[in-house]
Amino acid sequence: MALDDRQDRYPFAEIEAKWQRIWADAKQFKVTEQPGRPKYYCLEMFPYPSGRIHMGHVRVYAIGDLLARYKWMRGFNVLHPMGWDAFGLPAENAAIDNGVHPAVWTYENIDNMRTQLRRMGISYDWDREVATCDPAYYKWEQLIFIRMLERGLAYRRRSRVNWCPSCLTVLANEQVEAGRCWRCDSEVAIREIDGWFFKITDYAQELLDWCDRLPGWPERVLTMQRNWIGRSEGAEFALPVAGRPDLKIQIFTTRPDTSFGMTYAVLAPEHPLVDSLATDADDRRRIDAFRAEVARETEIERLATDRPKRGLRLNVRAVNPFNHQEIPLFLADYVLMGYGTGAIMAVPGEDQRDWDFAKAHDLPIIATVKRPPDWKDEQAYTGDGVKINSGFLDGLSIEEAKRRAIDWLVAKGLGQAKINFRLRDWGISRQRYWGAPIPVLYCEKDGMVPEREENLPVVLPRDVQISGKGGSPLAEVATFVNATCPRCGGRARRDTDTMDTFVESSWYFLRYCSPRYDRGMFEPEAAAYWMPVDQYIGGIEHAVLHLLYARFYTKVLRDLGMLKIDEPFQALLSQGMVIKDGAKMSKSKGNVVDPDDLIRRFGADTARLFSLFAAPPEKDLDWNDRGVEGASRFLNRIWRFVHAHLDEMKTATAPVPAGDTGRAFRRLIHETIRKVTHDIEHDFHFNTAISAVMELVNALHDFERVSLDGMPRPARAALLREAVEAVLLLLGPVSPHVTEELWAALGHRQSLFKQPWPVPDEAALARDEVEIVVQVDGRVRGRLTADVGAAEPEIREKALADGKVRPWLDGRQVAKVVVVPGRLVNIVTRA
Ligand SMILES: [Zn+2]
Ligand SMILES: [Zn+2]
Repeated sequence: MALDDRQDRYPFAEIEAKWQRIWADAKQFKVTEQPGRPKYYCLEMFPYPSGRIHMGHVRVYAIGDLLARYKWMRGFNVLHPMGWDAFGLPAENAAIDNGVHPAVWTYENIDNMRTQLRRMGISYDWDREVATCDPAYYKWEQLIFIRMLERGLAYRRRSRVNWCPSCLTVLANEQVEAGRCWRCDSEVAIREIDGWFFKITDYAQELLDWCDRLPGWPERVLTMQRNWIGRSEGAEFALPVAGRPDLKIQIFTTRPDTSFGMTYAVLAPEHPLVDSLATDADDRRRIDAFRAEVARETEIERLATDRPKRGLRLNVRAVNPFNHQEIPLFLADYVLMGYGTGAIMAVPGEDQRDWDFAKAHDLPIIATVKRPPDWKDEQAYTGDGVKINSGFLDGLSIEEAKRRAIDWLVAKGLGQAKINFRLRDWGISRQRYWGAPIPVLYCEKDGMVPEREENLPVVLPRDVQISGKGGSPLAEVATFVNATCPRCGGRARRDTDTMDTFVESSWYFLRYCSPRYDRGMFEPEAAAYWMPVDQYIGGIEHAVLHLLYARFYTKVLRDLGMLKIDEPFQALLSQGMVIKDGAKMSKSKGNVVDPDDLIRRFGADTARLFSLFAAPPEKDLDWNDRGVEGASRFLNRIWRFVHAHLDEMKTATAPVPAGDTGRAFRRLIHETIRKVTHDIEHDFHFNTAISAVMELVNALHDFERVSLDGMPRPARAALLREAVEAVLLLLGPVSPHVTEELWAALGHRQSLFKQPWPVPDEAALARDEVEIVVQVDGRVRGRLTADVGAAEPEIREKALADGKVRPWLDGRQVAKVVVVPGRLVNIVTRA
C-alpha cells in the first residue's frame, strides 16, 4: 500500500530546518565537564560510513536522542556524541570496483551521512565528532599497541587463516561463505601465516566475573558473553607413551571421573609431539599426508557435530595412568590445538563425539556411570548416576568422583585441577590497506623493533595500488616499507599489516571525552568525569565481539594506569531489527524503506515517533505504512489543536478551581506525567509512554468540548494550557521539532529542552473519596466509597453489586434506583 501523503500537513520541512539551525547556531547540545553536576553519557554505537543511513540507524538514534533529551530535562549534563567507524573493507572494495581512493570514498560518505543525521535533529555535540581513520585518532592506539607489546599483551605468532588461492589473499571468517571465497567463489584453503595477537585470554576470568556485576545489561547478552568466554573446570594430567619413557602427552578433561572409561586418546594433528611419534619414514609420510588433508578443513568444519570425524591410528600406544592399560593413540580432526592442551582422553561411553569416533573406528566403549533401567545403548550417556567400572571411584556420585580423581592425580604427582577457557587470543593482523598500520619494524640486526613514540603516528600512505589480490597492499609501497630502524639507525622494513577495525571501536567512547586532546589518548580528568558510559545502545549482533573487546581494552588501559574504571558501559540496550513483511530489510528482497524519502514526505518527527511507538526497543520493529500515517496524523492533530486554541491559552493564568470535570481532567494530566516518566525510567517502555500521551491528547479533545458548557473561561484556559504544555514536554524527546515550535508559539522564550521535566502534582493525583450510604427500600443495608465527582451510573452499578447489599435484593425485582451524588443510593424493590 502506498503511503498517503496528500492530506493536510503542518509545515514540517520548514519547522525542522528552522530548529536544526537554531540548535546548531546556539550550540545547544555542546557540553563541557562540570564537576559537581551529575553527568549522563548517552552513546549509540557509531556507524560504519557506508554512505547512507538506513531505518536501523533511525531507530537506534531516535532511542538515544529520546534518552539524551530526557536527561537534559532532568537536569543532567549530557554527553551525546557521534562519530565514524571509518576503517574497513567496504572502502577497499569500492576502490577496487570504482577506482576511487578509500579515503575519498569514506569522507564523502561521512559528509552524506552527517547531513542525513542532522536532518533527523539528533541532539549531538557535533564538536566532538571523531573519525577513526584520522591519524590523530589512530596514533593513540598505535601507542597503546606498543605499551601492550612491552607488557606481553601483544605478541606475534603463526596461525591458521583462510586463504583464497585465486584472489591470493587472506579472508576473514565472514568472507568465507560455505567454504568458498565471497568475491570469486573459489574453494578456500587454510594457510599458516604470522600475525599479531592481543592476549585477551589473560583477562578471561575477570571478563567472566564482571558479567555478574553488570545489572544494567540484558541477561541474554551476558549469557552470550559467558558462553563465549566458556570457562570449564577439570583436570590436566599426563599420559605416558608406551615404550617411550621420554614422552608424555598432557591432556585436559572436564570429566576426570570418567578416566577408567578411557579406551583411546587423541592428539590434534598440529600437536608438536606428533613429529616425535612417527616410527619410521613410511609412518612419517602417512602422518604428513593426514595432516595435509586436515589442513584443508576449516575450524568450523572440524568442530561440526554432523559430519564424520577423520582419524589416523598411530603406531605407538599411550597408557591410562588410572589402570595402567595400553590404549590406541589417534590423530583426529575434531581435536584442535588452540583449546586445552591439544590432546584428549577419549571416553566414548560418556562423550558423544568420542562415541561417534569409536563406532567409526571399532573401538571399545566402557560405561563408567550407571545407566537408568530403560536406557538404550545407542549413544553416549551424559546424565547423572553412580560410578561403575571405575576402580576406587565406584559407587561415588559424579561430582564426588571428580574430586577424588583429582586428589589421586595430585597425590601421585601426575596432574592437577585445571580451569580452561574457550576464549582465544584476539588476532588483530589484517592483510589490508584501509586500517591503522601496526607500529613495528623488522631490522636485520635488531629483529622486531617497535616504532619510537615520538615518531607516531605511523601514517597510512595515500599513494597505493589496491587490486584485492596478493598480500597486504602496503607491502607494495616502497616509501612505506623501507624505513629506518628506531634502535640502530640502520635499514628496516615496516610491518605491512593493519589492525582489525575492532581495535578502533574498542576505545572511541574514550576519545569522545576529549576528542581534540593531543597529549594522549584522552584527557584523564575528562575521562574521569564522563566515564563510564551511562547508557550504551546498539544491535544484538555486537553482543559478543565488539562489547567483549571494548571491555578488555578498558581493563588493559586501567592496568596501564590510564583509567580508574573497570568496565566501560554501565548499562546496555540492545535494540531489535527493523523488518518489513516479516523479513530483514535488504536490497535483494526489495523491501527497503529509505529514511530520506520518509523524512521528505512526513518529516523527521514522524519518522522518530513511529520508530519509537511501533515496538518496544528490544523487540523487532515490523514496518507498516499505516503506522507511519498514524504517527503523522497524531502530530498534525496536536498542531491543529494548539493553533486553534492559542489565543485562549495565552489568556491562561494560574490554575483556577474548575469543578469535578476540571479536577478529573487535571488528575489525568498528572497521571500521564507519572506514567510517562515511569515508563522511560523502567525498562525503556517508550511505546507505552507514547501511548499514554496519545490518550491524554484524546482526553484533551473531549475536555475541550465538555468544558465549553458551564466551566468558567479562566479555569478552562488554564487547564487547556496545562494539558498542552504537558503534552509538549512529554513528547519533546520523541518529536523535538514540532514540540519546540509549539512551545515557542505558546509564548515561551526559552527552548523546551531547557525546561525541567514535568513532575506530577501530588495534590492533583489525590483521589478524594466519599462514603455513600446504600439503602434498600429505605433501610440502610451497606456503605461504599466512591470518587468525588463519580458519575451516577458508576455509583448505581457499584451499589447494586455490593456484597452486603446483594442478599437484600435476592428474589426481588429492582423497581427504581435513586442516586443522590456524593451521599446516598436508594434501591426500591418489589417482589
Ligand atoms: Zn577469491
Ligand atoms: Zn636495528
